[in-house]
Amino acid sequence: MRMVDLIELKKQHKELSQEQLHFIINGYVNGEIPDYQMSALMMAICFTGLSKKEIAALTNEMMHSGEVIDLSNIEGIKVDKHSTGGVGDKVSLVLGPMVAACGVKMAKLSGRGLGHTGGTLDKLESIPGFKIQIQKDDFIKQVNDIGIAIIGQTESLVPADKKMYALRDVTATVSCIPLIASSIMSKKLASGSDAILLDVKYGDGAFMKTKEEAIELARTMIDIGVELGKSTRVTISNMNQPLGNTIGNTLEVKEAIETLQGKGPEDVFTLCLEAGSHLLVQAQQAENIMQAKSMLQEAINNGSALEKLRQMVEAQHGDGKYIMNPDAFEKATFVIPVEATETGYIQTVQADTLGIVSMKLGGGRETKDDVIDYSVGIVLTKKIGDFVAEGEPIAYVHANSEVTQALIDELLSAYTIIDSKVEKPILIDTVLM
Ligand code: URA
Repeated sequence: MRMVDLIELKKQHKELSQEQLHFIINGYVNGEIPDYQMSALMMAICFTGLSKKEIAALTNEMMHSGEVIDLSNIEGIKVDKHSTGGVGDKVSLVLGPMVAACGVKMAKLSGRGLGHTGGTLDKLESIPGFKIQIQKDDFIKQVNDIGIAIIGQTESLVPADKKMYALRDVTATVSCIPLIASSIMSKKLASGSDAILLDVKYGDGAFMKTKEEAIELARTMIDIGVELGKSTRVTISNMNQPLGNTIGNTLEVKEAIETLQGKGPEDVFTLCLEAGSHLLVQAQQAENIMQAKSMLQEAINNGSALEKLRQMVEAQHGDGKYIMNPDAFEKATFVIPVEATETGYIQTVQADTLGIVSMKLGGGRETKDDVIDYSVGIVLTKKIGDFVAEGEPIAYVHANSEVTQALIDELLSAYTIIDSKVEKPILIDTVLM
């Protein structure tokens, strides 16, 4: 077999076999296939697509390119959750403890990723002492004992994706549904859980810009799940504005704690309740969505969901006092109100612009070696549909150094304010399974 012939086949819209895909992934990971040939193949895939059979086979090959985690020593049905990423997305910090409090086992391996704002691992690491690298045996014991652990992915998980993603980043082949679907699903499948809940976001703050693209990605990932025997469900949610009212690591952890206390923002809670209810049904802890929702609500009301977060933090060497007393978290030196420059109703709050502002404050990484400043970020006081008067704070910037007018202007550029009333957007469009 020669890679050049396989590229030619794909260019001519021909279907690649499991054996050919094995040759490609194996050869690429072993360094026998060079980056330029892999780039050419991935670009051909962007233009010609892949059949359902090819996507499942590619995912399977990628999944087996490294370690496949064996969670069989954890009793019961194990679940995992993944979000395609969004600004202000603190769902894992809330959803995990909620479902664990209802008896579901969540053994979650998170990737760090490069993003405007920190990922789940960065948010967790903003809790003093919290460790994201723990021994596999301890990980399994922790999930058996308390029902939840969230740790960092090991280097050996899906090495094919690491190489392919780095290449896609510099060859304009990131936004390609078959490649995104196989990238996400190979990591979820290699993480060893029995059931997967994916939150695919669309909007200006998300990978998928339109709802139609999000649905196509969701359907592709569900097909992979079906083909490879994993229960997979997908929430399609709107990321046309940040999720919740905070952006920035410590600020988001505090908002997650508030949500677990039953006093968080409605959108964060709604998304966790919806996603959590499907996970409870997938894990056979509830018979239907209605029963699952009432179990999750009860876990908030009786404090058991918050207690699960504290238990997880302490099991992973973090200081649980911060969970019970979030005021103890270190605060940014400056809290600066950003005033609206006109009066009216908020029509847009561009999530990606605010994500970039938060990153520039130090809350995210521009390059993978950047060090995150946990306490900085943005607190939003107004979101789409809200009325704001000129001079009223639209947001607060939390910073540890002087904030330039240019950065404030950049933040304000995320907002459009109009005279007529604006409907609040619907957060979850649909759930696919
Ligand atoms: N997230 C991933 O893990 N992979 C992609 O290709 C895109 C988003």
